[in-house]
Amino acid sequence: MQHDETVATISTSVRQFYERKESFRIFHGSTNSTRSKPTKNLVDTSRLRHVLSVDKKKMTCLVEPNVSMDRLVEATLEHGLVPPVVMEFPGITVGGGYSGTSGESSSFKHGFFDQTINWVEMVLANGEIVKLSRTENSDLFHAAAGALGTFGVTTLMELQLQEAKKFVETTYWPVNSMQEAIAKLQKATIDSKWDYLDGIMFSKTEGAIVTGRLANEVSSSTTPIKTFSNPEDEWFYLHVKDVISKSRQPVTEAIPLAEYLFRYDRGGFWVGESAFDYFHWPFNKTTRRQLDDFLHTRMMYTALHASGQSKKYVVQDLALPYSTAEQFVEYTDETFGIYPLWLCPLKQNPLPTMHPHSNESEADGSLKQMLNIGLWGPGPKRYQDFVAKNRDLERKLKELGGMKWLYAHTYYDEGQFWEMFDRKWYDDLRQKYGATSLPSVYEKVRINVETEERKNRSLSEAWKRIWPLAGMYGIWKAIRSKTHLEARNAAWREYGKIKN
Ligand SMILES: Cc1cc2nc3c(=O)[nH]c(=O)nc-3n(C[C@H](O)[C@H](O)[C@H](O)COP(=O)(O)OP(=O)(O)OC[C@H]3O[C@@H](n4cnc5c(N)ncnc54)[C@H](O)[C@@H]3O)c2cc1C
Repeated sequence: MQHDETVATISTSVRQFYERKESFRIFHGSTNSTRSKPTKNLVDTSRLRHVLSVDKKKMTCLVEPNVSMDRLVEATLEHGLVPPVVMEFPGITVGGGYSGTSGESSSFKHGFFDQTINWVEMVLANGEIVKLSRTENSDLFHAAAGALGTFGVTTLMELQLQEAKKFVETTYWPVNSMQEAIAKLQKATIDSKWDYLDGIMFSKTEGAIVTGRLANEVSSSTTPIKTFSNPEDEWFYLHVKDVISKSRQPVTEAIPLAEYLFRYDRGGFWVGESAFDYFHWPFNKTTRRQLDDFLHTRMMYTALHASGQSKKYVVQDLALPYSTAEQFVEYTDETFGIYPLWLCPLKQNPLPTMHPHSNESEADGSLKQMLNIGLWGPGPKRYQDFVAKNRDLERKLKELGGMKWLYAHTYYDEGQFWEMFDRKWYDDLRQKYGATSLPSVYEKVRINVETEERKNRSLSEAWKRIWPLAGMYGIWKAIRSKTHLEARNAAWREYGKIKN
């Protein structure tokens, strides 16, 4: 009942914007996007934050859109179940996951997050409440995935679940080049024994492919059990680096399931290392442990937004055909020199789609998988140089048949942007479902360079240019957000307390 009441309120609010011919944006209380947050014409959906039910028999759950990955996993693990695709950051929501592009180390098998959804309840731009599924309004069900809420507001979804196991038996396979990494990833992608697959390149000549298998028992009594959520634990990528540099052979460990799913939370993959660089703090196990509260993704992203540092970082996920991925890494190595790089194979959605895609197909006509490359690190200090490099990255990506995920900065002009997507298909659907009063995907993702330059030069932003004021302000905002408590008190960590 409470759900229906909340949705009715949202529907009324949306209809009012529609009648006034005004566009609106969704406020759900948190975000992982690195773009600035809008403050006007918001539809507040923050009350929609409950897992309404878990159906053990059907292996599904009914979830409101603001349920974050950690709360979702806690609710389903209680029933011995887990979603097939769980985004690595605990704070990413199911609504954001459907509306944005979300994929992780099981996406080589299950595809993007939206592929694991049975149906969605949506409030259209005119306030009408509709159901979308593979059989009902299927065109919209498919198109709204990755379209950033530009068709309406997602208010509920039924999500598929699978049987949870105690561990992910994880193996780190050392590689010495991108070529070797690609070959190993492609081989593992077609090997049905793996449930999870990703990789990290620490440099051009050192990396690891990481395979995972759901298991209730460790296969050997000598397999160590590892956790990554406690302040004294090592950050995941540092641990992998350490393991492969000590042993040039594959190494296997058992990671309790939820610990595996959120293994990159501390340190935000490795973006957290930049905070140490910014403040000139020593980066070692002791300082990481002392500052642990600040180094979980929710806290880090609050600080990153508030300090304005997110505008100076290249935080981009770039999906490429396997055929050009090596060439792309050559380019990023020369142009950005950013490492580590995250490698994540992605099963494509059927075309047309607003997700990153390529037309390359297998002999049987199915679309070839793509390789996601996470490029996250500091960019040039001067804004003009930062923009120029980002534009060059976009040019190179296009030349190599790749596409970026749309959660971050986009510098394409409108024509260049729509060359990558089927604009007619998108516009026709926006017309059909009365969504033309909402901002388009392009309007949502583009960075207006002139406006940003003006902001950067303005007196009100001048203090942000004085080191380390912006960083301190970011920390203050993060402390006030109290989101560190969510990490400290996370119930999913209890599932990790399995001892050797
Ligand atoms: C640094 C970084 C790292 C990332 N790493 C990963 C990763 O490891 N794995 C992964 O899978 N993904 C990753 N992502 C991508 C992430 O999954 C997507 O950006 C996702 O959309 C973020 O969800 P959110 O809950 O933060 O939503 P938001 O950023 O708030 O929303 C995403 C979009 O969806 C819209 N939206 C949100 N809720 C609704 C709703 N109820 N109805 C309609 N529209 C809505 C918003 O308006 C926005 O346009 C990463 C993103 C960033 C910035």
